[in-house]
Amino acid sequence: MRYSKTLIPTLKEIPAEAEVISHTLMLRAGMIRKLAAGIYSLLPMGVYVTKKVEGIIREEMNRAGAQEVLLPAVQPAELWKESGRWEEYGKELLRFKDRHERDFCFGPTHEEVITDLISKEIRSYRQLPLNLYQIQTKFRDEIRPRFGVMRGREFIMKDAYSFDCDEKGVDESYNRMYDAYCRIFERCGLKFKAVEAETGVIGGSFSHEFMVLADSGEEGIVFCNSCDYAANIDRAEIRTKENGDGGENKEERKEIKKASTPGMKTVEEVSKYLKVRPQDLVKTLIFESENGIIAALVRGDHQINETKLKRFLDSNILLLAGDEAVREVTGAPSGFAGPIGLNIAIFADHGVKGMQNFITGANEIDAHNINVNIGRDFEIKGYGDIRNVKEDDKCPRCGKDANIKRGIEVGHIFKLGTKYSQMLGATYLDSKGEERFIIMGCYGIGVGRTVAAAIEQNHDENGIIWPMPIAPFQVLILPLNTNDTMVMETSEDIYTSLIDKKIDVVIDDRDERPGVKFKDADLIGIPLQIIIGLRNLKEDNIEIKTRRNGEIFKCSVDAVADKIIKLVRQDA
Ligand SMILES: [Zn+2]
Repeated sequence: MRYSKTLIPTLKEIPAEAEVISHTLMLRAGMIRKLAAGIYSLLPMGVYVTKKVEGIIREEMNRAGAQEVLLPAVQPAELWKESGRWEEYGKELLRFKDRHERDFCFGPTHEEVITDLISKEIRSYRQLPLNLYQIQTKFRDEIRPRFGVMRGREFIMKDAYSFDCDEKGVDESYNRMYDAYCRIFERCGLKFKAVEAETGVIGGSFSHEFMVLADSGEEGIVFCNSCDYAANIDRAEIRTKENGDGGENKEERKEIKKASTPGMKTVEEVSKYLKVRPQDLVKTLIFESENGIIAALVRGDHQINETKLKRFLDSNILLLAGDEAVREVTGAPSGFAGPIGLNIAIFADHGVKGMQNFITGANEIDAHNINVNIGRDFEIKGYGDIRNVKEDDKCPRCGKDANIKRGIEVGHIFKLGTKYSQMLGATYLDSKGEERFIIMGCYGIGVGRTVAAAIEQNHDENGIIWPMPIAPFQVLILPLNTNDTMVMETSEDIYTSLIDKKIDVVIDDRDERPGVKFKDADLIGIPLQIIIGLRNLKEDNIEIKTRRNGEIFKCSVDAVADKIIKLVRQDA
């Protein structure tokens, strides 16, 4: 590819719209441009990388025995009504009508379409197992699209669906996909963790997320270096020994007192003011749930996890109560709630169990209760694991130190069971001729997000540093003196010989100053640069520079191609 003939509109400035480094660099390296909120055009460099990632995904999916299909992006409402998700999915589902006033949506995922297809085409156990995948454009109408292609509304996704006769079969399909995903992200050159995860709106009984480790990641993950425990923060269990043990604390119950805490709202402010530790406080949070308003208590130094609380309460709805509701229930504005005297169900984290003489809000402005005790002053309706794992928590499996890191979710695999096959009537006849529901799994990879995550993990102050397997090009030739015939002819010769040897190569044939070429080269992040200047050419001493660590290899013109092939293979 010739630089002068393509479109790589690099930018010097950091674009104002960019919030994370991958977004900044994809804009600056001329890979993407925004069309509307969460909707991006992929320019040539963006397409080259995307195709590389898709290529790896295809190879590994095919190797795992999956078959590629291509399903429609536009889907009729009837199918979504059958599965119940026309109502359930909410505003993320982009709905519209055709000219006949029929309802349609732009597919955010394809469980309905594929299950419908399977229900019509599969009759017998002899046709199973089956795993079908596609790489296709989806649309989810995110309320707050951000971070460029990382959380866009329109995005490219690989989704796969497995169909099995029984539990053993679906376990095998799931494990095969798990292994395929590990190979895919390894081959993309990414550092990742597979973590136990929540099933969310897709449903199902069991799932893993594949998380690329990056500080900018939106999700917390907990993992152990001593054993293989790894879970999403919403899923990660609190080790029971640290859960408190319900009344072992034999401290004498002191008399309850009210303390004035003028202007003090946060745990930090109150504990400093009252000269106690944050863990001597108990936070009271008021939520609106399916079964009305409830209070949830966590220790002062702990953070409530709303997903865990939602699961614990078995409520489909959970919202932090608004000011008005809080005032109605507690008699005070938000920030002063306490458990004493509340006329609603009170639930608490295990960490609150066994606490004595603690401090809570007093349900009035600028006051806290001191020496509060469970049982004497108020009752707890139930204890649960409703908080986030914290730095000093231990691994729930082996008890060694737990690690907490941030990650970007690039893949998600689910064991769906028969949820969709029951809704949409996908059955097969078993060997005895009995009709049974097909057992399903579904498996997604965010292609664009994988590209962005790769940048989050591979960059420096000068730009992107592509891992070789997904680099848009493996080699960039930089002729420095475009007016010099010898420089240009040699560069062209090397360019042609590398193409003949099946190397992905781009030549910067632009009539630009060397400084401009070097800056762009580092920004777009091609792993190997061949630098051809008049001086080094005269000495037959051409430079090959690696983008990752700036290492320079010198070699003669004749030896360049062999050296490049060696370097490409070494990283591929
Ligand atoms: Zn462990």
